[in-house]
Amino acid sequence: MSQKRILIVGGGLAGLITSLHLQRAGLSCTVVEKRSYPFHRVCGEYISNEVLPYLDWLNAFPSALEPSSIRRFQLTSTNGASAELPLDLGGFGVSRFALDHFLYRLAQQRGVRFMLEKEVTELRFSQDQFIAEISGDAFVADVVVGAFGKRSRLDKTLNRDFIHRHSPYVGVKYHLRLPGFPQDLISLHNFRNGYCGTSHVEGGVVNLCYLTHRDNVRSYGSLRAMEEAVLFRNPFLRDAFNRGTFLFEKPETINEISFETKAPVENHVLMCGDAAGMITPLCGNGMAIAMHSAKLISDHVIRFCESPSYTRKQLESDYAAAWKGQFATRLWAGRTIQRLFGGDLASNLAVTLARHLKPVANRLMKMTHGIPF
Ligand SMILES: Cc1cc2nc3c(=O)[nH]c(=O)nc-3n(C[C@H](O)[C@H](O)[C@H](O)COP(=O)(O)OP(=O)(O)OC[C@H]3O[C@@H](n4cnc5c(N)ncnc54)[C@H](O)[C@@H]3O)c2cc1C
Repeated sequence: MSQKRILIVGGGLAGLITSLHLQRAGLSCTVVEKRSYPFHRVCGEYISNEVLPYLDWLNAFPSALEPSSIRRFQLTSTNGASAELPLDLGGFGVSRFALDHFLYRLAQQRGVRFMLEKEVTELRFSQDQFIAEISGDAFVADVVVGAFGKRSRLDKTLNRDFIHRHSPYVGVKYHLRLPGFPQDLISLHNFRNGYCGTSHVEGGVVNLCYLTHRDNVRSYGSLRAMEEAVLFRNPFLRDAFNRGTFLFEKPETINEISFETKAPVENHVLMCGDAAGMITPLCGNGMAIAMHSAKLISDHVIRFCESPSYTRKQLESDYAAAWKGQFATRLWAGRTIQRLFGGDLASNLAVTLARHLKPVANRLMKMTHGIPF
């Protein structure tokens, strides 16, 4: 097998899993991550069990972290009407602080090279190779995997379409202790112009993470004022905020979260995870998609490295087709279902649907999820 130089930009789930897969196939690669592990990220931290066979195959399931096991789903409307459904596949809960650090250490032990606290600021492609600017130094690569998440300054330098349009979505995450919150439940609570997930991660800690519109925050002046005025109208959220012991000094926040369609290959860079396209968080499926796209990319890159007759053009068009076939409908379904969230009428309708038309609700949920891979 030819030793092509493989650069992975971004060490979130997509980048870390790609590195583990390539390393398992005997290919060396370098991961560049602008931060240093461990660190918190805005994320609901619920992972669909569809990833279990792949994590087992990679020998990378984080059992040492003792993730929670989640089997039931609760949906509440803005005024607190509630419905519950069993989850077909279910999932597990583990903090990104612990999970990403675990995968980083595993990859490092298995021989993946890391450049931490380094940022890729530019990627140029000419004469069949890339020159990456990494914190002022030049790095030459034959293959670049773009695993730099939902929004990066690289999206600007690559002049990607979606980056020119502002997105109004803001994400906020807390960790708390919430006595009595069931270990096996994930709840999705509506509030005006947003929704909030709560579920256990490891160590008896509950994740509370919400998505809202930036105008919702602006009109109340601060997150706390908005939470009291808007989120507290849902009795489940009022109870969580009033009874919970919050573990962060201040919440993790991000803005400009875009769910727009992106291209899975851009300027010859193979995009992975959120960099290729982000599913709406209510689906609880972004991390599974990040891992699944890491698998797709790795399979294609391995073929590119193994077979001299498999051209870059074929690699790019095959990967783009595989990505679209696997994920495009799920991302569309997520965007469509998100429209039912955050309104009084629509959220009550969604709860009624979940209560009385369980097969339809199950079908909608399935549309946003994949099958075990
Ligand atoms: C509010 C909210 C709730 C969510 N809840 C869930 C959930 O419960 N379940 C679920 O499955 N998904 C959820 N998601 C989605 C999930 O978080 C993402 O889909 C997942 O993190 C994508 O992983 P990634 O590796 O593509 O990106 P990230 O995890 O964002 O990793 C990208 C990495 O790239 C690094 N980086 C960026 N630019 C550069 C650069 N130029 N040079 C070097 N490094 C760079 C960043 O520092 C970062 O570490 C949620 C998302 C949001 C916003």
